[in-house]
Amino acid sequence: MTSTGPLRPHDTPTPRRALAIAAHPDDVEFQCGATLAKWTADGCEVSHLICTDGSKGSWEPEDDLDQLVALRQVEQRAAARALGATGEVVFLGWPDGELEAGIEQRRQVARVIRELRPDVVFGHDPWKRYRLHPDHRNAGFLTVDGVVAARDPHFFPELGIAHHRPDSLWLFEADEPDHVEDVTGFGDTKVAALLQHVSQFRTTMYIDPDDDGTQRDAFSTRVLDGLADTGATVGVAMGETFKRIEPL
Ligand SMILES: [Zn+2]
Repeated sequence: MTSTGPLRPHDTPTPRRALAIAAHPDDVEFQCGATLAKWTADGCEVSHLICTDGSKGSWEPEDDLDQLVALRQVEQRAAARALGATGEVVFLGWPDGELEAGIEQRRQVARVIRELRPDVVFGHDPWKRYRLHPDHRNAGFLTVDGVVAARDPHFFPELGIAHHRPDSLWLFEADEPDHVEDVTGFGDTKVAALLQHVSQFRTTMYIDPDDDGTQRDAFSTRVLDGLADTGATVGVAMGETFKRIEPL
């Protein structure tokens, strides 16, 4: 059941398998990296599903976008390894900035859920108010709609894969969070995974190419401070927030 009342810290029993679905390479690490690091350390098989190709993730007009797409896949795989993830890293490859929550995209997400059979699915909260980026909104809808399609046997029978009903859906960037996972001890792993996304240093981490380490340290401090601020709301050293939807 969804929890009610004031937020409190949770140390959720580690699931066997988890799947994190996101719009872009690096979203998973930003939003739920410490929770995934905690679970991988306890034997959970963690997989990533990235909906877009990440081809808008540069401020340089002259950048070779094919190279950027390939680089971001390498970085995402390295970030998954840094989290300790032992599952799949799947890329749907839709153009960055143009992700739609259509039936073909939903079929692809449902297919991956049926193939990987996660107990817990993570995704963007599609109902977060005043969100600007359409990819995050649409990746959120694809996660929710993909779970519904994956769990019922008469959706997409042409996939030829047995239906699968996850136990729980955890939405990050939640409009109304109702769960704080205690991630004390896993902040450094989250930072290490984020720092694998080297192509995003300027655009999302504010680290210049010629940084002497100062900006990198400042980024690390910002991430750890954010985890500490969240943890402080419920009396633990570090936390990540979610909206949990269950049973599914
Ligand atoms: Zn993103």
